[in-house]
Amino acid sequence: MDYSLTAEQDMILRSLRAFREQELEPYEAEVDRSGEVPQELGERIKARALEMGFYAPNLPESIGGGGLDYKTLALFERELGKTSYGLHGYIHRPSEILMACEGEQVDNYLKPCVSGEKKEVFALTEPGAGSDILSMATKAARDGEDFVINGSKHFISSPVEPDFAILFAWTGVQQTARGERKLVTAFLVDRGTPGFEIKRGPRCAAQRAYHTWQLFFDRCRVHQSQILGEEGQGFELADKWLKMGRVWVAAAACGKLERLLELATRYAAERRQFGQPIGKFQGTSFKLADMATDLQAADLLVMHAADKADQGIMQPEDAAKAKLFASEAVGRAADNTVQIYGGMGLMEELPVERLWRDARLDRIWDGTSEIQRHIISRSLLRPYES
Ligand SMILES: Cc1cc2nc3c(=O)[nH]c(=O)nc-3n(C[C@H](O)[C@H](O)[C@H](O)COP(=O)(O)OP(=O)(O)OC[C@H]3O[C@@H](n4cnc5c(N)ncnc54)[C@H](O)[C@@H]3O)c2cc1C
Repeated sequence: MDYSLTAEQDMILRSLRAFREQELEPYEAEVDRSGEVPQELGERIKARALEMGFYAPNLPESIGGGGLDYKTLALFERELGKTSYGLHGYIHRPSEILMACEGEQVDNYLKPCVSGEKKEVFALTEPGAGSDILSMATKAARDGEDFVINGSKHFISSPVEPDFAILFAWTGVQQTARGERKLVTAFLVDRGTPGFEIKRGPRCAAQRAYHTWQLFFDRCRVHQSQILGEEGQGFELADKWLKMGRVWVAAAACGKLERLLELATRYAAERRQFGQPIGKFQGTSFKLADMATDLQAADLLVMHAADKADQGIMQPEDAAKAKLFASEAVGRAADNTVQIYGGMGLMEELPVERLWRDARLDRIWDGTSEIQRHIISRSLLRPYES
């Protein structure tokens, strides 16, 4: 695999870096403290992203997206991962499963998400169904040409209140060798549909300006034309999307890790105790060495997965390994950076404590570390199963 940047990747990353440094990072502390991105700022970020061609980079050029390949997208997420999700969330990367839109859905949902007119959420997790997603309670019961939806979702993230939800609900059961399994269908449900209520979720310690939403469905009626993809195939659609989502979390974790390493190294070189820079003490310098090694390993795992995705041969365990390693590595790095900064590491006026809190989320969303280990170990043991 060739790790050098192409001329196009170099150009994209340079302008993305300048955008992040000049137009996002200056607002990080403020939005973290208030937990809100002022509407005017959010709209400005979105407008600038549209103008610079950074909006919807993950969807094909044929529908107005950036058409970037997976390796370039990994570099894109890595760069944005250095700053707050609350801010870079306005540079929308629509859910790739919207590519399953057909007929009028293309004009009503897919294209408006690419042009910035609409914003969707990906609504899978429920209060009673997190890692064990097939235990979901949200049900869509067929009634003639309609479905009647009852249930709720939580932890559904978006910087702004969504225009519609890609909602996963169970619509039937099938018999498998391991017993009954719920059949899940994806629906496009508009805000304002009677019986569909959206509320802000609780405040989160990590990525404070990036909100989560609670979605409630009470006898919410949608027409069958609102099904995304095939009836009963929603889980397969979700699974496809979640696999790449894990690579993006891993890539963003690498960006955060790089920023932490820069902060820790500079502080270790400048801060003096006992007559010398603290970086001269092995207790400090070895932490830097471990962080640098972790960063390189995490980057390689991310690029390996993205390269395989570009070739169409990425396996679930490739994404899981990248997500597991990068999210655990950034957690170690964040903790070590706080330690290197001493008391200053916990003060709100520096970015260290914020990165430390933000990094904690990476081991949880898009599948916890335990679930990634489950995926990896299952792939190892599968050949031996009878
Ligand atoms: C800020 C934020 C944003 C999010 N955004 C979205 C979103 O946009 N859309 C969406 O659908 N979801 C979203 N999520 C949900 C997220 O993906 C889940 O939180 C995650 O999958 C874990 O589910 P859970 O929190 O219910 O934990 P649980 O599944 O209850 O897990 C609790 C603990 O049990 C462990 N555990 C569970 N099962 C096993 C097992 N088989 N083996 C070993 N250990 C196990 C877990 O690893 C964890 O340590 C978001 C979450 C957060 C916090």
